[in-house]
Amino acid sequence: MKTSRRTFLISSIGVASTLALSRTAFAADAPKVEENDPTAQALGYKLDASKVDKAKYTKFVAGQDCGNCSFYQGKATDAFAPCPMFANKQVASKGWCSAYNKKA
Ligand code: SF4
Repeated sequence: MKTSRRTFLISSIGVASTLALSRTAFAADAPKVEENDPTAQALGYKLDASKVDKAKYTKFVAGQDCGNCSFYQGKATDAFAPCPMFANKQVASKGWCSAYNKKA
């Protein structure tokens, strides 16, 4: 009984590690959002926040970018990371879209 419980725990840890690894690999492999993507156009996404159409997106403030948005699924130092607004495709840390929400 003890052996089978230990075996179960060891194999559970193995499965959990494998899932964690494949999730990381999946995030890194996710395609990057292109500016001509229909969702990107609808949200005014730009790879470079300095290129945002400031006349159209008047709420944009210099200094806002994906890297400091609450939706960015990576570290601020990651050049690209998934964003749930784009079905977890990767957006640029220096990018911006109109769904921007300052990270607390
Ligand atoms: Fe970038 Fe935030 Fe827009 Fe996602 S929601 S693209 S992280 S500004």
